[in-house]
Amino acid sequence: MAELYIDGQWVSAQDGGRREIRCPADGELVGAVDEAGADDCVAAIAAADHAFRDGPWPGTAARERGDLLLRVAGLLERDVDVVARMESLDTGKRLVESEYDVADVVSVFRHYGHVAAEEAGRVVDTGNPDVVSRVVHEPIGVCGLITPWNYPLLQVSWKVAPCLAAGNTFVLKPSELTPHSAIHLMRLLDEAGLPAGVGNLVLGTGPEAGAPLSSDPRVDLVSFTGGLETGRTIMATASRTVKKVALELGGKNPNIVFADADLEVALDFALTAVFLHSGQVCSAGARLLVEESIHDGFVDAIVDRAGRIRLGGPFDDKAETGPLTSARHRDKVEAYVAAGIAEGAVLRCGGARPDDPALADGYYYLPTVLDRCTSEMSVTQDESFGPVLTVETFRDEDEAVAIANDSIYGLAGAVWTQDAGRAQRVAGRLRMGTVWINDYHPYVPQAEWGGYKQSGIGRELGTAGLDEYRETKHVWHNIRPAVQHWFDG
Ligand code: NAD
Repeated sequence: MAELYIDGQWVSAQDGGRREIRCPADGELVGAVDEAGADDCVAAIAAADHAFRDGPWPGTAARERGDLLLRVAGLLERDVDVVARMESLDTGKRLVESEYDVADVVSVFRHYGHVAAEEAGRVVDTGNPDVVSRVVHEPIGVCGLITPWNYPLLQVSWKVAPCLAAGNTFVLKPSELTPHSAIHLMRLLDEAGLPAGVGNLVLGTGPEAGAPLSSDPRVDLVSFTGGLETGRTIMATASRTVKKVALELGGKNPNIVFADADLEVALDFALTAVFLHSGQVCSAGARLLVEESIHDGFVDAIVDRAGRIRLGGPFDDKAETGPLTSARHRDKVEAYVAAGIAEGAVLRCGGARPDDPALADGYYYLPTVLDRCTSEMSVTQDESFGPVLTVETFRDEDEAVAIANDSIYGLAGAVWTQDAGRAQRVAGRLRMGTVWINDYHPYVPQAEWGGYKQSGIGRELGTAGLDEYRETKHVWHNIRPAVQHWFDG
C-alpha cells in the first residue's frame, strides 16, 4: 500500500520510510503507513503549484466547487462507520465521540459547499460615473495545511473545506500519530472528482515532512493548528517568504462559576468542560474559577464525581473517557501535575495512572483536580492538554475577569450565572475568541473559531474562515478614458 497522495497518485515515501500506528488505548497495532521526508513534501508542493497555475480548479465556477464539497459530505455519511472506527483506533477515543466528530465533519463540508458561491464580491460607488469599481475575491494559491492529533479529521475539515471552496490547491500534513482518517478523506476527494494535484497528502513528522510547508516559496499560505512552540517556529520560518499565516494554537480556558448559577448544571458542565476526551481539547475548561462563597461544596462535588469517571478503550460501552494519545504526552501531564503540587496546589483526586490491570497497556491518566491554585502557579498558566482541572477562587465580578484574562492565551471561556446583565458584562470583558454563557464546548461551522493573544492568528469556520483562503482584489475600470494634462509641458 502507498499512502502519500501526490498529483492524483498514491505513492510511497521516496526513502521507503514507514511508521507503525498503535492504538493509545491498548498499544495494539492499527497499521503501518508511509513516513514522508522533506523531498516528498517538496514534490507535493510542486504538484499543488502546477495545479494552481495550470489546472482547472481555481477557475472552476464556485458553485461547482461547492457541489464537490457537498458530494464529499455525502460520501462521508456513507462511510461514517469506517471513518469513526479509524479515528477511534488512531486516537483511542470512544467510538461514540468519533461518530459525533464525523457528523461534525459532514456539517463543515456541507456548510462550505453551500457558501462557496456566496459573496462573490461587491461593486464600489466611487462617486465617479465614469468608473466601474469592483472588489472581487480570488484564491490565495498553494496552501500548506498542518493539523494535530486530538480531533484529526475535524481539524483537517476546518481547513480543507474552505480552502477548496475558495479555489486553492493544498498540501495536507496531518499529525504523524493519527493519519488514517486523512488518508480516507483523500480517497473521498478523489472519488468526488477533485482534479489531480489540487489536494495532496504527505504523512510524517513535522520537522521532516511538514517543514517545507513554511519554507518553500511556492506555498502562499500556511495554516497550522497545534502547539504554541510549533506555531512560533512555523511563523518565524514563514516570515522569510512573507507567507500568509493562520495559527490555531493552545488555550488555558477559564470556566467561571458565580454563586448565583444553577449549580447542578454548572457542576455537570464543569466536568465535561475539562474531562471530555481526557482533556485533549484545545478549548478545554481546565481552569475553574469559582466564587469564594461556594468553593467548598462545589469543589467537593466535582472531586466526588471526577473520582467516579470510568476510563476505557474506544469500544468499551461503559467507558466515559479514554487514554492520552501517547506515552510521551502522559509523561508531560505527569510532570505538569508534579510541578503544580511542588508550587503548593492541593491534589484532591487523581494525580496518578489507574491501577486497573485492564488499562495497563494504554496511556491512561486519572481525572485530576488541583485545588487552591493561584495565577502565579505554572499549572494555571500552562496548558496541560490532559485531564487536569485547576481551581481558583474570586470574590467579585472584577476579580473573576482579571484572573480569567491573566493568561498569554485567549482561546475560549465560559461564564455561569443567572444574572443576564452580569453574563453579558463578563462575556464582553473576556479577551477570548469564544465565550459560552451557561454552556460549554458547543460550536457551529457558521460561527468563527479562533484565539486572541497567543492562542493564534486568524479564524477558522464562519465567513472569516473562508476569508482566510481568499485574496481580495480591487478592479478599477475607467469607462471614459480621456487625456488629463497633469503634466502639460
Ligand atoms: P504539535 O504542535 O506538536 O503538532 C501539530 C502538527 O504540527 C503535527 O502535524 C506536527 O507533525 C506538526 N509539526 C510539528 N513541528 C512542525 C514543524 N517544524 N513544521 C511543520 N509542522 C510541524 O501539536 P499537537 O501536540 O499535535 O497538538 C496539540 C496542540 O494543538 C495543543 O496545544 C492544542 O491546544 C492545539 N490545538 C489547538 C486547536 C485550536 O483550534 N486552537 C485545536 C486543536 C489543537
